[in-house]
Amino acid sequence: MPIHICSACGTSYPDTAQPPSRCLICDDERQYVPLGGQAWTTPARLASRHVNGWRELETDLFEILTYPNFAIGQRALLLRTPEGNILWDCIALLDDATEALIRGLGGVHGIAISHPHYYTCMQDWARRFDCPIHLHAADADWVMRPDATIRHWDGETLEIAQGVTLLRLGGHFAGGTVLHWAGGADGRGAILSGDILQVAADTRRVSFLWSYPNMMPLAAATIRRIAGTLAPWRFERIYGAFPSRQVLADGAGAVQRSAARYIELLEGSQP
Ligand SMILES: [Zn+2]
Ligand SMILES: [Zn+2]
Repeated sequence: MPIHICSACGTSYPDTAQPPSRCLICDDERQYVPLGGQAWTTPARLASRHVNGWRELETDLFEILTYPNFAIGQRALLLRTPEGNILWDCIALLDDATEALIRGLGGVHGIAISHPHYYTCMQDWARRFDCPIHLHAADADWVMRPDATIRHWDGETLEIAQGVTLLRLGGHFAGGTVLHWAGGADGRGAILSGDILQVAADTRRVSFLWSYPNMMPLAAATIRRIAGTLAPWRFERIYGAFPSRQVLADGAGAVQRSAARYIELLEGSQP
């Protein structure tokens, strides 16, 4: 029996005869059930209608994105390190071409994911490349297909390769995680953020929300904590959730300025 993939969010569910009656990720107020109701696909059907495209974002960092757009439009990033490749965030489609290309680049050493909206088909990627998946334990209840490859980590930071550190920021999800890459931007540092920090249309800004599709904010205290957690880390660039959403200069300053303005607006200082 095939596994079932939610067409609206890309989350995979176990291989049962019938698809689930609902998707718990879409039922949550941080996602939504489309007007026409929940629809499901399978890996084979997805692969027959979609392909993955690649783009080099900077030396040692590739974007992998599915065309035409599928689910939330998630992208995965492949980060090359001397210890092996790290897959940051995940997408539902793992086709033969993607597997062959990644094997040519040396396979996958480990998978790390920002939050449950990117869990998608992580179990299949981990099994195909025989590597662990690092997820923050605070989001363990959002795993819809438990798997032996999943390693839940606790605490605030986890170094998964030299100079590659997961930082738990929380916010959008309790276990919301970003990846700090010390060697990014020619050694000035980069953050791979998913939508834990959302790079804005003005790519000198980021934002922070509880629910992106339903436009629900986070509390001022949460934004203060996130900005405080990032304050000691050096980074020039921020690679966000979606293509071309990246802060290319003074990423650390962009976070602090954006957080301060967000708090100012929440606390009633609108013009
Ligand atoms: Zn869903
Ligand atoms: Zn999200």
